[in-house]
Amino acid sequence: MSGESLFPALEPLLEQVSKPIQYVGGELNSTVKPWEVGGDGTVRWALMYPDAYEVGVPNQGVMILYEVLNERPDALAERTYAVWPDLEALMREHGVPQFTVDAHRAVGDFDLFGLSFSTELGYTNMLTALDLAGIPLHAADRDDSHPVVVAGGHAAFNPEPVADFVDAAIIGDGEEAVLVVTDIVGAWKREGRPGGREELLLRLARTGGVYVPAFYDVTYLPDGRIQRVAPNRPGVPWRVSKHTVMDLDAWPYPKQPLVPLAESVHERMSVEIFRGCTRGCRFCQAGMITRPVRERSITGIGEMVERGLAATGFEEVGLLSLSSADHSEIADVTKGLADRYEGTNTGLSLPSTRVDAFNIDLANELTRNGRRSGLTFAPEGGSERIRKVINKMVSEDDLIRTVAAAYSAGWRQVKLYFMCGLPTETDEDVLQIAELAKRVIETGREVSGRRDIRCTVSIGGFVPKPHTPFQWAAQLGADETDARLDKLREAIRSDKRYGRSIGFRYHDGKPGIVEGLLSRGDRRVGRVIEAVWRDGGRFDGWSEHFSYERWMAAAAAELGAQGVGLAWYTTREREESEVLPWDHLDSGLDKEWLWQDWLDALDETEVEDCRWTPCFDCGVCPQMGTEIEIGPTGKTLLPLTVLGAGRERMTATP
Ligand code: SF4
Repeated sequence: MSGESLFPALEPLLEQVSKPIQYVGGELNSTVKPWEVGGDGTVRWALMYPDAYEVGVPNQGVMILYEVLNERPDALAERTYAVWPDLEALMREHGVPQFTVDAHRAVGDFDLFGLSFSTELGYTNMLTALDLAGIPLHAADRDDSHPVVVAGGHAAFNPEPVADFVDAAIIGDGEEAVLVVTDIVGAWKREGRPGGREELLLRLARTGGVYVPAFYDVTYLPDGRIQRVAPNRPGVPWRVSKHTVMDLDAWPYPKQPLVPLAESVHERMSVEIFRGCTRGCRFCQAGMITRPVRERSITGIGEMVERGLAATGFEEVGLLSLSSADHSEIADVTKGLADRYEGTNTGLSLPSTRVDAFNIDLANELTRNGRRSGLTFAPEGGSERIRKVINKMVSEDDLIRTVAAAYSAGWRQVKLYFMCGLPTETDEDVLQIAELAKRVIETGREVSGRRDIRCTVSIGGFVPKPHTPFQWAAQLGADETDARLDKLREAIRSDKRYGRSIGFRYHDGKPGIVEGLLSRGDRRVGRVIEAVWRDGGRFDGWSEHFSYERWMAAAAAELGAQGVGLAWYTTREREESEVLPWDHLDSGLDKEWLWQDWLDALDETEVEDCRWTPCFDCGVCPQMGTEIEIGPTGKTLLPLTVLGAGRERMTATP
C-alpha cells in the first residue's frame, strides 16, 4: 500500500553500511504526518538535497520548504538524501527503493519529488535517486503513477542540462512557489486528475512561474548554436519568471530548525538576515539572481534567533546572507545580540568577507565571549586591475588597512579568498596574490609585534555562470588553471621571509571545467550526465568520488556525436547575438544591461552598489514592481518579551 514504511526492509541493511544513523530520521523538529492527512486531495512532497545527509540536512532551502509545506493541513513533506554507494548496492540487491528519512516511505509513492540544486555537481545523484525510486530517468517515459519531478535551487536557473530528467523547474524563492504548486496539484487531484499528467503539467506551466521543459522545442543552427526556444503548447509563456518573496518578516522560517542526530557540516542554527545582493560582483551568480535586496527587520532577526535557540538547543547562531555586514542595521543587530547573549554559552557568527574595518568591528563585537579563530576577507582578484574587471571595489591599501586593524585587534589568523581564471586574467594578475599575502604578513608582524601570525590564501577556479555579466566569457582550461596556480604556489613557497607564514589552498582546475559544462550547457549535455552516471558517476562534489576521466570520456563521445564538444561549451567566448540556453528563464535582469556590464568589465569600469547610490537599471526592481527593501527601521533589538517557549510566538517591543 502507498505510504507504508520501508523500515522493516531497510533496517537489516543498515548494520552493513557506514554511518547508518544518517538514514534513520527522527531528528528534533522533524515531522511525520499520516499519509491521508488531508483526505483525497492530500499533496505529498518528497524533498531532496542531492548530496549526503551530512551536507544536505543543514540546507536552509529544504528546511524552509519542509516546514512551510508541513504547516498546511492538506499537505505533507518528507526528506530524502543521496545514499552512499555502500547502501545503494545493498538497496539494489534487496529491492529497497529510494526512501525518505522521516517515515521511510518510498519516494515513488509521493505526488511530487522536489530537488534543490545548490550546485550542478549533484546531477548524477539525482539520477541515482530516480533510478532507485523506480522513476524512469527520462520525463518522457513517466506516466500518471510517477511523481512530478521538480528542480529548484540556484542551479535551476539553467535547468537545460537536466531538461530530459525533470518534469518541471522553478526559479527563485521557493516558499510561496511550493504553496502555489501544492494548490494546483491538490485541486487537480480533488477533481479526479482530469487529463492526467499532461494536464497537470499544463496547469503548472500556464502560471508562468513553472518551467516545463517538455513544453518547449529547441532548434539549433548548423554551427551548433541555439536558433530558437519556443513553447509548443497553447497558453505556455515564452519566458518563465522567477519567484521573489518581498517581505522576509512574513516568512520567519525555519521556525523549528532541524537538529540532526548524525554529524553534519554545520553544527549551528542559521538565521537569514537578508536576501539578494547589489554589490554587483560580476562573477557572482548568487548576487545577480537573488536581486533585489530584501532585509529582515532587526526585530524579526531577534525573534528568529531567540525562538530558534529555544527550539533547538544549538549553541551557535550564524547570521546568514550573501554579505551579512551589508545589512543596513547590522551594527545594532550584532550589538543587540552580543548584549543579550553575553555571559551565556551562545556563540554568534557573521559569515562576512567584506574587506573593511567595519567588518572587524562587528567580528570583535560578536567574539566578546572570547572565541576568536580567524577572519576571512575576499578580495577575489589578486591585482587592482582584475578587481576592476570583476567589480570588486577593494584597493590594495584598503586590504592592508583592514588586516592591520584585524591583527592589532588581536586576531592572529587571516584567510583571504581569491579566484583564478577570471576573464582577461594573466599570470601577472595571479602572481600579485603572492605579493599581497607577503604585505599582509609584513603588516601583521609590524602592527602586532609578533611573528606567529598567519595568512591563508584560498583559491577557487572561476566558473562563468548563467545570468551574470560573465555568462559570455571564455572559461580558462583546466591545464592552464593548474599551470597558473603552480606558478603562484612556487612564488609563495620560495619566499624566505614570509613564505612559511602563508598557507596555500586550492583545488585543481578539473572539477571547474565539469561544473562549467553543466552550468552553461544546453539540453545536449543531458546525454553526458546520463553516460557518466551509467558508468558509475556519483557524488561528483566529493574529490574522492569525482572522476575527471569519466566526464571527459563521456563528453567526447556524447557531445562529439551531436557536433559540439567540451571546449565549445566551456572555453569558447559567446557573442552578443547568441541565444543562450537559459534566455527563456527570466531572472529579472535585462540581457542588454548584462551585456553592457560585460563590456564595462572588459574596459575595467566599475559600477557602484545600488543599495547606496541611484539605480543603474539592471531591470530587476521595475520588473518586480518594487524597490530594494532596506532599513533603517529605527527599531532596536532589545528588549524582547518571551511569551512562551518553543512553538509559541514571541513579540518584540520597539
Ligand atoms: S533595478 Fe536598480 S535598484 Fe533594483 S537591483 Fe537593479 S540596479 Fe539596483
